[in-house]
Amino acid sequence: MSAPPVLEVRGLGKSYGKRAALRALELEVAAGELVALVGENGAGKTTSLAIISGQLVPDEGSAHIGGDDVFERARAARSRLGYVAQGLLLPPYLTVREMAQLTCRLKGVSLEPDALDAMLALTSLGEDADRLVGELSHGMQRKAAWVAALVSKPALLVLDEGLAGLDAASSAALAGEVLRRLDDGLAVLWAEHDLELLVERLTRVVVLHGGELAEVVTGDVLREEAAAGKLAERMRRWTSTSSSSSSSESSS
Ligand code: ATP
Repeated sequence: MSAPPVLEVRGLGKSYGKRAALRALELEVAAGELVALVGENGAGKTTSLAIISGQLVPDEGSAHIGGDDVFERARAARSRLGYVAQGLLLPPYLTVREMAQLTCRLKGVSLEPDALDAMLALTSLGEDADRLVGELSHGMQRKAAWVAALVSKPALLVLDEGLAGLDAASSAALAGEVLRRLDDGLAVLWAEHDLELLVERLTRVVVLHGGELAEVVTGDVLREEAAAGKLAERMRRWTSTSSSSSSSESSS
């Protein structure tokens, strides 16, 4: 019998007017699992992640983090969450260091100076730690969001295209840090268009298409395809707006 999932999503649905952005999404991520969320532009990835992180209220369904509903027990649920949003949700009038401090305070965890220094070094933000977030470049702001998310010791890390706009060295460093933390039991839900840096440790890929769960593929299958040089082709099929892939493997 495996441990209960860190993230449990049941029947999530969200519409904007008559347009259904998300329908009946079921999803679980257990401790130590890395689950990628993929799909074409508009497939519903950001909608899903915004609900899971408590930024967007669903029309139906629920999301629990560590057993706590993200809206009904928001404080408890979100204290376990690290979230790097697609858009920037950072206060521009705080410095990178202040933002990390505030994030930890809001979540009720102590900020360890060594951990902050390590994350600043990992993201090459060491010299910018006392600059205002609003003065940083887009990529640097994204790194600041990573720093705040990682230093707050999350049980669940939710990343909405977390590597978008980052340089290659930073992308590799941050992906490497996430993969390392899987061994400590971190649960990760990661929406990304390129799985190259993640495939080594992927548990499974959840494919959304037109707001619905279209397919779930195991990490082992993906690794076989990557070894055969077919990962890019697979990603192209998944993100094609006309259809989802027809081959399906084990579900979550
Ligand atoms: P991308 O890869 O481009 O980030 P996505 O998979 O994250 O796409 P979502 O942002 O979740 O897609 O959008 C899902 C659907 O919901 C789309 O049809 C989008 O137009 C619609 N949508 C999202 N936000 C809003 C909004 N605020 N108002 C109206 N429709 C919205």
